Amino acid sequence: MSAKILSGKEIAEIIKQEVAEEVKDLPFRPCLAVVRVGEDAASAVYVGSKVKTAEELGIISEHHHFSAEISHKELLDFVEDLNRRKEVDGILVQLPLPKQIDEREILEAIDADKDVDGFHPINVGKLSQGQKSLVPCTPAGVIEILKRSNINISGEHAVIIGRSNIVGKPMAQLLLQENATVTICHSRTKNLAEIASQADILVAAIGRAGFVRAEHIKEGATVIDVGINNFSDAESARELFGADELEKRLNTIAKRGFTLVGDVNPKEAKERAANFTPVPGGVGLLTVAMLMKNTVEAARRRRGEKERGRKGA
Ligand code: NAP
Repeated sequence: MSAKILSGKEIAEIIKQEVAEEVKDLPFRPCLAVVRVGEDAASAVYVGSKVKTAEELGIISEHHHFSAEISHKELLDFVEDLNRRKEVDGILVQLPLPKQIDEREILEAIDADKDVDGFHPINVGKLSQGQKSLVPCTPAGVIEILKRSNINISGEHAVIIGRSNIVGKPMAQLLLQENATVTICHSRTKNLAEIASQADILVAAIGRAGFVRAEHIKEGATVIDVGINNFSDAESARELFGADELEKRLNTIAKRGFTLVGDVNPKEAKERAANFTPVPGGVGLLTVAMLMKNTVEAARRRRGEKERGRKGA
């Protein structure tokens, strides 16, 4: 079997177009405030892409960058200022934060109505009760990929490897809402391969390059790879990539020092699965698109605008 590749690029573009159209119809411009602390290189790239995408879609974006030495109290006060500002619809504090800052307290300080990352306990609670809420962007993006690729979820066995608050747990809630039978696996799970290989839909959110192998994948399954890992070992690249992409990947490692790899072995997944999301070019691209969608949703709700007919999830 050669898996159908589910391109996150096309789906993310469609969602962004929908958001841009929605923004045009609004009597106001939604506003997203992004807060970054310190000089983490990956955070700088993520924030840059969020701010740029917001502007492209007609959303006002504010980029607030603080030095790594900012105190917990100063950051907390700043978040509370953003909460008070009526024109700010969405607040996102980019993680990770420096050690002196209590990450949980900062995330909990964000007004739940402006919590476009969907990490606030109020939004987490609403999600688990099946109430309308701001939903974490990455798992929401996975649902969009499945639905817009016409992959049936209802009644299917979905296995998620990973139980983080950011991906695994909200992913389980969303799949449950879509009537999947859900199993969550983690580092203490016994017989992981046996359980994973029963999945019709297998979601990998582990943080270990190429961890999911053929033995974890049922023939004909849909495999969603959430992982994003830097992979620099040219020697073992052959185990991960087939003839179709090995050369390109080796060139990337030679030029940049690494290539991006998911939590699934792409060579083996393509042989066993019916559908597979690539890395890069899969789930990652949906995360920013869903953040934009959440920002518009938060703005509508806060400002009392009715939602228009929602497409997809
Ligand atoms: P995380 O907080 O580190 O959680 C990893 C999860 O994987 C944990 O629940 C852990 O189990 C489980 N795990 C680790 N080793 C395992 C093993 N050997 N067998 C079974 N389970 C194992 O990571 P995360 O934030 O969820 O991120 C997961 C991956 O997704 C990372 O590669 C990250 O970069 C990527 N990610 C991508 C996006 C995107 O936009 N595409 C967004 C967020 C994250 P325990 O709970 O037992 O420790």
